[in-house]
Amino acid sequence: MHNENQDISFIINHLGEDHASYFNAIAPPIVQTSNFVFETVADMRKAFEDEMGGYLYSRGLNPTVDILRKKLAALDGAEDALVFNNGAAATFAGIVANVKAGDHVLSVTHPYTWTAHLFDQILSRFGVTVTYADGADAASFLSHVQDNTTLIYLESPNSWWLDIQDLRAIADYAKPRGIITLIDNSYCTPLYQKPIELGIDIAMQTATKYIGGHSDTLGGVLCGTAAMMRKIFNSEYLCAGNGIQPFNAWLLLRGLRTLPARIDRITASTQKVLAYLKTEERIESLIFPLDPSYAQFALAQRQMKNACGLISFYIKAQQIQEIEKFCNSLQHFRMAVSWGGHESLVIPKCADIPQAQFDPLNPTHRLLRLYVGLEDPEFLIRDLEQAFRGIGLL
Ligand SMILES: *Cc1c(COP(=O)(O)O)cnc(C)c1O
Repeated sequence: MHNENQDISFIINHLGEDHASYFNAIAPPIVQTSNFVFETVADMRKAFEDEMGGYLYSRGLNPTVDILRKKLAALDGAEDALVFNNGAAATFAGIVANVKAGDHVLSVTHPYTWTAHLFDQILSRFGVTVTYADGADAASFLSHVQDNTTLIYLESPNSWWLDIQDLRAIADYAKPRGIITLIDNSYCTPLYQKPIELGIDIAMQTATKYIGGHSDTLGGVLCGTAAMMRKIFNSEYLCAGNGIQPFNAWLLLRGLRTLPARIDRITASTQKVLAYLKTEERIESLIFPLDPSYAQFALAQRQMKNACGLISFYIKAQQIQEIEKFCNSLQHFRMAVSWGGHESLVIPKCADIPQAQFDPLNPTHRLLRLYVGLEDPEFLIRDLEQAFRGIGLL
């Protein structure tokens, strides 16, 4: 039977919105309050007993944030969601809630910067060990599971190399063994990949990127079972106090309204930019999950509904100055971290090494990432053409 609660249009435009409770306004209110009053001690006691059962204090639940939680959980096909002040906070809470001293985490190689920092610099101080392994082949990745592994951390696709993992195979292995699986699903959003449906326990995404979509707010999401979200809410969420603020939640609700339209546009533009990039002689190779040249093309086709926005490529260069000139002369791909907004972006991997360390034989030093935004793709391609022309042929 058709269940309207699963329609993306219904979720984005209607789910969780009770217009009658706010003057029949179409746009939900920003409930900018720190606390909520009680009429009786009995009511207050009830709130203390179960802070997730009602409104007490905005470090916990807040009505504006709750509308967003309902929509984000439904988009992921999850029972519940928690929304954090940014993606890093969401990852932090999701991981810390599921490890204790003596536990082991199996992570894919090259996780997001601050996830790696959490593993290497923070968890190591509390007796949690982490093994990094290539996730391309599920069986060899899972061979690194130990008796004390309690969490498997995935990122599919990941930030720079766009590596993917077989989510169903990993979930099928982890579930009967009681190992929690957590994925950073920021690249795809639940529109293009639904990890929960593939058996993953916790789907994280940064809402700063596609959900916000306008480069004007940060946010982070965890989706999972009601029990898992309750466990995180009652501990890490309330204790760290890193839940999203009502105004930022409102901006994300606003961003959500146009998410499918923006993703459609970005997908179409990305295809055009990709087709152009394939003609560029200065490009050694491209990384895009739904391109036939992609190493895990068959898995990407099976697991992801689509791909868009981010394209990585290795540029041919003998000197770092060539890469710098290319990036510096782009005018419409602005140079910045992040992605998912209206504006197209470029970031070269060599920006985080001193110039003198550049080694043309190290492909990573010649890796660049483009983000295709909402501009006219022809306008973007002209910009790339002039920047490639500026560095000339090798
Ligand atoms: C940006 C990003 C994050 C962190 O999200 P913030 O909202 O910036 O904290 C995590 N994972 C990936 C893949 C990202 O791109």
